[in-house]
Amino acid sequence: MSTTPTNVLVAGAGPVGLATALLLRARGLPVTVLEAAAERAPRPGSRAIFLHRQSLATLAAADPALGAELVRNGLVWGARCTYFAGREVHRRTYTPAPADRAPFSSLPQPVMEELLRAACRRAGAGIRWNAPVTGVEPAPDGVLVRTPDAVYRAAYAVGCDGARSAVRRAVGVGLRGPRSPYAFLVLDVADDPAHPLPLDRAFHYRDPRMDARNVLTVPFRGGLRVDVQCRPDDDPDALGAAADDWLPGLLPAGHARTVTWSSHYRFQQVVADALTDAHGRVLLAGEAGHLFAPFGARGLNSGIADAAAAAAAAATGDVSGYAAARHRAAVLNRRAAGRALAHLTATGPWHRAAQRLAAAAAPRSRRAGRWLDSAPYGPRDAGIPGSRY
Ligand SMILES: Cc1cc2nc3c(=O)[nH]c(=O)nc-3n(C[C@H](O)[C@H](O)[C@H](O)COP(=O)(O)OP(=O)(O)OC[C@H]3O[C@@H](n4cnc5c(N)ncnc54)[C@H](O)[C@@H]3O)c2cc1C
Repeated sequence: MSTTPTNVLVAGAGPVGLATALLLRARGLPVTVLEAAAERAPRPGSRAIFLHRQSLATLAAADPALGAELVRNGLVWGARCTYFAGREVHRRTYTPAPADRAPFSSLPQPVMEELLRAACRRAGAGIRWNAPVTGVEPAPDGVLVRTPDAVYRAAYAVGCDGARSAVRRAVGVGLRGPRSPYAFLVLDVADDPAHPLPLDRAFHYRDPRMDARNVLTVPFRGGLRVDVQCRPDDDPDALGAAADDWLPGLLPAGHARTVTWSSHYRFQQVVADALTDAHGRVLLAGEAGHLFAPFGARGLNSGIADAAAAAAAAATGDVSGYAAARHRAAVLNRRAAGRALAHLTATGPWHRAAQRLAAAAAPRSRRAGRWLDSAPYGPRDAGIPGSRY
């Protein structure tokens, strides 16, 4: 067994681990990433497709070429439109902006990860593949991290090893929070150049094409995300298996409708009890520290905010500042995603009535249409100074 001295160890080469490594390198700290999977192992599904302006700016500050590539490989929607029972109630058009001022970039998570890996290589952040973290032993002056083949010593370790984080378990931290009883069916459809997909993001309340279920369609570079809110009596597997029956109705006539990814979720809304260990040597970031319903795209975007804060904490030693600020952010992000989830599932009669009334008022009241458009994403301002996430 070898012992390798390293300043900061990052567990997990998912998007948050890669962003953390890059941001640590940008501060001049030596970093090694330990990743359980093999280098060419397939990544699990498409998942995040929306990087907010704030995340793009954070990554571009560390590596301008990465910022430009994330925008070039993504797209900005033509408009965001909201419909109620098939009738348009709100539309906001996006004017094309130069790459450094893109409001967001919509691209599949595996492409983001590929670009982040290239940026880590440029920055000299080493990645050890096939290196699952199996033990973490923090002490007042540093931390030991074990993999099956080696023991690493570092000043800090950042656990970016996802929802089932071994790092979080090793330091005895639990996740707390509810899980939505409602299932959402999510699938990605590939572009068909002969029958182009719409470039507008569309949210449909009570979509008549889907038997009055809520449906969200989001374009991204290379395809379209279709997100169907299942009814309580739906079997999401059966609804997914029947996609050939209903998907053509959501796509342009004649579209090849190649489904590249499909899954269904009951979203968790959980936050770790603490985002650091008792010695302030182990930090948790991304899904190792919190899981949110994806409405409002708070998952990866808040993971990148965690990454920036973790890199700053390792550079300055202010780990307790990290613990307090990012825990507060996680709780606020969860609350915002929870409000979005409550709006979408609209279980109370008053909530459904409010949506109906707003839809009726929308032709005369822009405010009513705007509310119907933005409420499915939760409050915009999560109350975190200097950060939307
Ligand atoms: C349907 C859906 C849509 C979403 N849409 C969006 C969106 O539009 N925008 C957004 O911001 N977010 C979105 N998200 C959330 C986003 O996908 C996650 O927040 C993001 O993947 C979390 O990244 P991560 O790096 O924390 O974890 P992961 O992506 O899970 O990466 C963890 C890494 O750690 C590795 N690992 C695991 N165990 C170990 C170990 N013991 N040792 C070493 N390595 C280990 C894994 O192999 C993996 O590489 C969505 C999620 C879903 C499910």
